[in-house]
Amino acid sequence: MIAYLERFVPDSDSDSNPSEDSTSAAAAATDVALCKSVELQGTLEYHVSSANDIYSTDFGGIHKAAAPPLAVLRPASVDDIARLLRTASRSPRLTVAARGKGHSIHGQATAPRGVVVEMGAMAAVEVRDDGCADVAGGALWEDVLAACLGRGLAPRSWTDYLGLTVGGTLSNAGISGQAFRYGPQTENVTELEVVTGKGDVVLCSPSHNSDLFFAVLGGLGQFGIITRARVRLHHAPLKVRWIRLVYADFDEFVADAESLVTHPPSESLDYVEGFAFVNSDDPVNGWDSVPLGPPQRLDPTAIPSHAGPTLYCLELALHVHHPAQDGPTTDEVVTETLRGLRFIRRLRFSTEVGYEEFLLRVKRAEKAAKASGIWETPHPWLNLLVSKRDIRAFDGAVFKGILRRGVGGPMLVYPLLRSKWDGRTSAAVPESSEIFYLVALLRFTAAAVGAEEMVAQNEEILEWCRAKGVDFKVYLPHYRSEEEWRRHFGRHKWERFVERKARYDPYAVLAPGQGIFSRTH
Ligand code: FAD
Repeated sequence: MIAYLERFVPDSDSDSNPSEDSTSAAAAATDVALCKSVELQGTLEYHVSSANDIYSTDFGGIHKAAAPPLAVLRPASVDDIARLLRTASRSPRLTVAARGKGHSIHGQATAPRGVVVEMGAMAAVEVRDDGCADVAGGALWEDVLAACLGRGLAPRSWTDYLGLTVGGTLSNAGISGQAFRYGPQTENVTELEVVTGKGDVVLCSPSHNSDLFFAVLGGLGQFGIITRARVRLHHAPLKVRWIRLVYADFDEFVADAESLVTHPPSESLDYVEGFAFVNSDDPVNGWDSVPLGPPQRLDPTAIPSHAGPTLYCLELALHVHHPAQDGPTTDEVVTETLRGLRFIRRLRFSTEVGYEEFLLRVKRAEKAAKASGIWETPHPWLNLLVSKRDIRAFDGAVFKGILRRGVGGPMLVYPLLRSKWDGRTSAAVPESSEIFYLVALLRFTAAAVGAEEMVAQNEEILEWCRAKGVDFKVYLPHYRSEEEWRRHFGRHKWERFVERKARYDPYAVLAPGQGIFSRTH
């Protein structure tokens, strides 16, 4: 189980074999010479020092790559990336990993003794006149937001945190409270520019080079580097009515959440999320995690006496546009939407904030976490997609059992609709029902010491899911063996994944940190 917590391997292991050392030094020298032969407009930095090597680890803080990269490319153009990939394909060893912001957990953006491409060097955003924006793969979603708001527009589907890159989230899915309505971010792009593992620059869309288009969406960086995406936009609202409703009963929580994402009046809602929290005064996981800022506070006397160790909160948002001339007011829409829901009436919280302020809510949490130091300590996060069929059993065993004391951070749980996920993309989702749940255990630790225990707890949850035959997928997956990847994708999707790999990155140059394929020649 501790296999998930890789040992921090120093650059030069003291017990390493001297003849192996000289062989790998010779190989490195050959590879560096090869990289130096690439004609570039951007810069390639060599000799990444292991002392301050940010490229061998990531936000998770529980993985350290076996070796630093040989070089880091800051591309000035798509051609730089294409030339690098063509050259890397000619070497027997070199690998290349696009790095967004390194917000992965398990070293997915690392390239030991390979080349890391700093995607942040290409971050342009151009808002077009046709309701779309052309966005470079290294742009942060918060920069996309800023550029679009200048034109009164905004992407339709988001992640909770916007300090992530466009190429990084499109390589996974990109999920937040809008996904029940618009699908994940991968469903909200109409065209991509991709550099394949062979170094071909390809423009693709659902109707043109469609196989590559769908392959790279949710493709874990395996088929190409996304250098540009055309993102669909809609009119940005002025404000957001933001609501939290507390439940003591999980069955009532999921019944209400499911009815909101599947039936009218869901049309009036623009965002549906939810989370589990601890029924105690725990400052991080408890009652205080619910109110939407002072002076609101959760009055524990309103919690029914039959409530268990875990409570649930439905989080909703409605966009507020210019004051409506005719039609219902926001208050009327809210009243209508909440009518018939079974939340605890005295535990309803609501506020109205600017649209940008709403979307940047996690950035405020980031500032606080940086100030207290917990942004830098390990984050053994576990994200799952769990079928509706099994979510009640999951609640009983996991939220009310294994995690009854919380995870030191948010425990998100909210429904998504399978019909909003195009089966042609590479993303794997549970298949047994139309509704499945995102479960995100966003663990924060005050110090590195707690991380091993948390990793063990994650493994206990996964073991429970496997033992009970739960229909689930790990979101942002991390596996070690082909057998596990095959199980993750399922036979049909795995075969397609392997075929696509052979077509677009036959030597397995790309994204070695995902641990799916090994470099061949
Ligand atoms: P990296 O971690 O740098 O890269 C991830 C993978 O994608 C690597 O394999 C890399 O090689 C590859 N890659 C990167 N760029 C490209 C590219 N241009 N083309 C091809 N492959 C590329 N996810 C959600 O869905 N919803 C959320 O609400 C959400 N919130 C988060 C909040 C925080 C604080 C953090 C740390 C993560 C969150 N995530 C969320 C997870 C996030 O989607 C992943 O970390 C994702 O990998 C994006 O991070 P990144 O841009 O830093 O990519």
